[in-house]
Amino acid sequence: MATQNPKNKKQFKVVMKKDWKSPGSSSMWKNFLSVVLIFLIISTIYSALTEGSQEALQIPISELARDVNQELVLKVVVEGDEVKAEYKSGEIKDTKKEEGIALTETLVRYGVTPEKLLGLNIEIVKESGFMFWLLNLLPIILPILFIVFFIWYLSRQVKGAGMQAFTFGQSKARLIPPNDKKQKVTFKDVAGVKEAKQELTEIVDFLRNPKKFLDIGAQIPKGVLLMGAPGTGKTLLARAVAGEANVAFFSISGSEFVEMFVGVGASRVRDLFQLAKRAAPAIIFVDEIDAVGRVRGVGAGGGNDEREQTLNQILVEMDGFEPNEKVIVMAATNRPDVLDPALLRPGRFDRRVVIDLPDRAEREEILHIHSRQKPFGEDVKLNVIAERTPGFSGADLYSLMNEGAILAAREDRTKISQFDLIRSIEKVILGPERKSHILSLKEKEITAYHEAGHALVSSVLDYADPVHKISIISRGRAAGYTLNLPIEDRKLQSKKEFLDDIAMALGGYVAERTVFGDLTTGPSNDLQVSTGLARDMVTKYGMSEKIGPIALEEPTGRVLFGKGLEDREYSEKVGAEIDGEVSKIMKEALERAEKVIGEYRKALDAIAKRLIEVETIERDEFELILIAHGITPKKKKDIEHQV
Ligand code: ADP
Ligand code: MG
Ligand code: ZN
Repeated sequence: MATQNPKNKKQFKVVMKKDWKSPGSSSMWKNFLSVVLIFLIISTIYSALTEGSQEALQIPISELARDVNQELVLKVVVEGDEVKAEYKSGEIKDTKKEEGIALTETLVRYGVTPEKLLGLNIEIVKESGFMFWLLNLLPIILPILFIVFFIWYLSRQVKGAGMQAFTFGQSKARLIPPNDKKQKVTFKDVAGVKEAKQELTEIVDFLRNPKKFLDIGAQIPKGVLLMGAPGTGKTLLARAVAGEANVAFFSISGSEFVEMFVGVGASRVRDLFQLAKRAAPAIIFVDEIDAVGRVRGVGAGGGNDEREQTLNQILVEMDGFEPNEKVIVMAATNRPDVLDPALLRPGRFDRRVVIDLPDRAEREEILHIHSRQKPFGEDVKLNVIAERTPGFSGADLYSLMNEGAILAAREDRTKISQFDLIRSIEKVILGPERKSHILSLKEKEITAYHEAGHALVSSVLDYADPVHKISIISRGRAAGYTLNLPIEDRKLQSKKEFLDDIAMALGGYVAERTVFGDLTTGPSNDLQVSTGLARDMVTKYGMSEKIGPIALEEPTGRVLFGKGLEDREYSEKVGAEIDGEVSKIMKEALERAEKVIGEYRKALDAIAKRLIEVETIERDEFELILIAHGITPKKKKDIEHQV
């Protein structure tokens, strides 16, 4: 693949991985058959050639001698040891004489009289060189030729795979050339992330006008690390930098470095950096760098070694940059916590740009970007959607808009309505509704009480999020769901919120147990989530009085209750204490949930009954039920007044 950069009037060739078409098995058979066919044809021709002279009858030399005596023979042609006798009758018979002895002598020995011999016309033909050699050597040469041909042919077959082995080391990077209008992304396409854009503008400046920086002796960062939750637009932002700077953009995902073969990753890195240097100014973008950039020296196994080598090679290449190389390495990760410290050392990825989940205003901006080319109905208010989607990433919002369009199209409408978008929010959060999954009457009842339990507990407790919707229509794997949305975006979570969340998660469990005196497998996910939360409180956030402000676990590993012996970070005693604390948190949460449900049993019944009737209760109706039972609904915050 060759790309042209008309601006610089400079050409650079980029060797992309070639896909060698390895022949399918059917064509391989076809080829094999044709080889056999050719072989058959050659051997037929050969035997025809050689047998042509042998068509004559073979007789012993004694018989020839007898026939000469009887004057039946007209002429004898001697060619080497071959003797061809032409009979007067017109017959031709072949025989052989002894080697090195003249025919006449042989005939005499076989009793041919001298007179008869004199009467015989003997012609001695010198063996024709070519035919002689051909006929003698062909039987030897032909199989050799055949074998050679066969090997050559086989090697050609293997070449498909073989060439792939040679291209393994080549980088698999995808290139977006600077003048590619279609794939071009600029900062305009990225909403929000103001700080990140500011930080990256500097990089853009350098790539556009490196001389200005170099002349003044400024050190240009070699590496920029984008950190942020999945879907926050890291990849998009990296592309936007390339688009703004109008430079070539090589992108590769961390996992693509690492394949089955050891050493491949490192050579891919080398190849990629070489390509980029040739194309300079350029950006190398390593997406999901945590796939190769994890802390080295932990764990065992070949895959690990491979990763280490790849990482080392990246470091070596980055160290080897000349300051005027005009190649900048960008990388993205959503796990900065697991990255090798060597990557973060000065001179490598020393610029770090954190990309947060968008806040309300940014969400609205993102929605606006993704509403280009989408026809909206009059009623669409993107600010309402933005308000209802706290915690959504840019990617979530993108898929929300897309789902809305799909819904409208499916119902044969030409415009997307607000209702489409609202329904899409739930779809993005919870997965599609499964209306075909029909619950039995008993299951419906249990599910209704379970969800009512969640909803009630979260409405009564002060720090739980308000309920937006309750439903017993199954979605994804859940039989029903209660949708709680925070009143506003939050960056920090408090201990009180955690405790209320855990109590709320146990609301379903408590409701089932109180109402039916029995338990189902329904709450199993609730229990997993809440136990995990309780454990995090103890081991990560220092929220347990007894253990105190000690982080007992890396953000990476999470094992619930009673961690195994390996890779343990705390002693047996501390382990037991953690379990004790987790257990205590869970018990207290259970008691609080029980208290709420005991106290407001009538409200629980009312919610469950209504759910069984209509299957889905929206926030407004739900709040009316709450008020009827003496519970004050959570305040709608000022944001909603704008609507
Ligand atoms: P990441 O790499 O952080 O996981 P991506 O960059 O792949 O996320 O984002 C996925 C998609 O989400 C983008 O292609 C874009 O459509 C959308 N998106 C994410 N963040 C934004 C944003 N800030 N502005 C506009 N679109 C965004
Ligand atoms: Mg990405
Ligand atoms: Zn539940």
